[in-house]
Amino acid sequence: MKIVIVRRISQVFFFVVFLWFCIVSSLGTEWWRLRGWPVNWFLQLDPLVALGTVLTTGTLYSGLSWALAVLVLTVLFGRFFCGWVCPFGSIHHFVGYLGRRGKPLSRSLELNRPHAGQAVKYYVLLFLLCAASGVLAARILRLVFDTPPIFLALAAVTIVAAVLTVRGLRSNRRKAYGIFLLMLGFWTAAAFVIPLEQVIRSSLQSGLLDPIPLVYRSVNLVLLPLLDSSTRTLFVGQRYYEGAWLIGAVFLVAVLLNLKTPRFYCRYVCPLGALYGVLARLSLWKIGRVADECTNCRLCEANCEGACEPAGRIRVPECVLCMNCLDECRHDVIAYRTAPSASGEVLVPDMSRRGFVLAGVSGLAVIPLVRLGGGMSHSWNPEVIRPPGALSEADFIARCLKCGQCMRVCPTNVVQPCGLQAGLEGLWTPVLDFRIGTSGCQYNCTACSHVCPTAALRPISLDEKLGRGGFAGKGPIRIGTAFVDHGRCLPWAMDKPCIVCQENCPVSPKAIFVREHFATVRDGVVEVKSAEPLSIRIGGTVLKPGRYAAGDHYLKVSSEPEHQRRRIVANGEYTVSLSPEHRFAELPAAGTRVEIQVRLQRPQVDLERCTGCGVCEHECPVTGRRAIRVTAENESRTRKKSLLL
Ligand code: SF4
Ligand code: SF4
Repeated sequence: MKIVIVRRISQVFFFVVFLWFCIVSSLGTEWWRLRGWPVNWFLQLDPLVALGTVLTTGTLYSGLSWALAVLVLTVLFGRFFCGWVCPFGSIHHFVGYLGRRGKPLSRSLELNRPHAGQAVKYYVLLFLLCAASGVLAARILRLVFDTPPIFLALAAVTIVAAVLTVRGLRSNRRKAYGIFLLMLGFWTAAAFVIPLEQVIRSSLQSGLLDPIPLVYRSVNLVLLPLLDSSTRTLFVGQRYYEGAWLIGAVFLVAVLLNLKTPRFYCRYVCPLGALYGVLARLSLWKIGRVADECTNCRLCEANCEGACEPAGRIRVPECVLCMNCLDECRHDVIAYRTAPSASGEVLVPDMSRRGFVLAGVSGLAVIPLVRLGGGMSHSWNPEVIRPPGALSEADFIARCLKCGQCMRVCPTNVVQPCGLQAGLEGLWTPVLDFRIGTSGCQYNCTACSHVCPTAALRPISLDEKLGRGGFAGKGPIRIGTAFVDHGRCLPWAMDKPCIVCQENCPVSPKAIFVREHFATVRDGVVEVKSAEPLSIRIGGTVLKPGRYAAGDHYLKVSSEPEHQRRRIVANGEYTVSLSPEHRFAELPAAGTRVEIQVRLQRPQVDLERCTGCGVCEHECPVTGRRAIRVTAENESRTRKKSLLL
């Protein structure tokens, strides 16, 4: 069988497996639903996920063994993942093929010519890794230089060496080394004066462009909800995701660009491809020319997916092992073997020193700059409510891949991709929006915490979530607190009876309790014309028939004590009927003033019981801006937001 056929089978196989894992990431009782399927397997295969989390957290990621296996295979065989496994790569490959079909050879050759822009993906990788590594680097500097004399001597030597290097030597490379040493000296000096780990910040932003989280996010939050909107096989109702248009637009643009340039994303943007490219230089097996009998037909280059010039000096970091060159070569001049290419090899990515420094420095600087806004500390946004099990915000941002697995698995659709509410760093991380979901966070559910691949949402048990059993001492996990808006709440602001939030509160005993209050309705002070034991006739005001018949209204003789009220069961324009147990013992005389009062049960939130599940907010009949809303105050993942004094 031809090698390209084997490659196509492999691509289709992994793509179908990936789709299957996305489809089964929904709760339900059918055999194919989430029942031990390794739905995060592709994320675990991704070494950029492993590397990113190691840099941001200093801890090893649980899926590391799979990622290590991929790294070892890359060192043996080159970028096999890009050409044979990556589901996003397979989409690019297929769409690129469609775009290339029927084009003349000269045009295909032009499209597949190596381009300086292919270096951009290495800068992207460096930028993302530097953005992730600030804290770790600062910690290491502090660790090394916690002994002041050694540190001072080292800093001085570094700076002197740097100055001498830059001044004394003309070659650019030496100058670059000098500048590097100078920067190192500066940072080591800074580390002595200021605690760098408090200045340098880092966060995991690789998920924005890493193809595996990107394709998970796009399929989970855009493609499957769109496809399922008519069939309703995966979910009972339509799924909604806030800002899904942007996620869809990024995906669509990345895919459509292949019509212009094959594998555009892989060649120019993909940081994972760049990581494999850096490692590919070490690979044992490589594509290359075996001899000089090449007729220069260039068929191999016309079909090359990586734009790596297989017939010339092959750019090893760019080769995605599509094997099209092997297949196309009529003279067997191209081979995949351990010996170097007869026409030479380019082993290092084509990056400029200036670009390298710029990407690295801006990567290190971007997170501290973004955090100057204070969104992560003092001016945190109370509307950012994280799912149960979320780590403290900085640790959460250091782990969240923005893969959307938690959003997909949530049965109530309440977990949503964040816009800019949590700052730039928080884009597409999960937040709860109780207006969009079909309910609040379910009392008996911990699904999102168990599907998260990086433990940004750590796995929690139901006992822990509800504060039962061994967790009784700690109490339930609170994701926020409900606040009643007295300006919008019907019983508070409009004298309308309503206890929807209290009735729906799932906590036991309920976190919402009510305070009874009787208020005289507008134009509700009337005069008695005549009275019978169970009804009175009034004069002056005309009542709307049936308006006071719901059982929430009472009649009170103005001169009688506060508690002496009679429940109204019906009313006409001039009559008010009373409940039999509230008959008049002594009939009021004509001209007596009586008041029609409404019984209000005004909701109050018990701070110690409210978990912030948001069911009250979801059910509130004030459907625009709800009259009871959950904010992140008092969430249990951080003491900083505590309300209990
Ligand atoms: S625990 Fe709450 S937020 Fe998480 S999946 Fe279940 S219902 Fe959704
Ligand atoms: S919190 Fe959600 S979006 Fe972030 S890594 Fe975990 S599952 Fe993915």
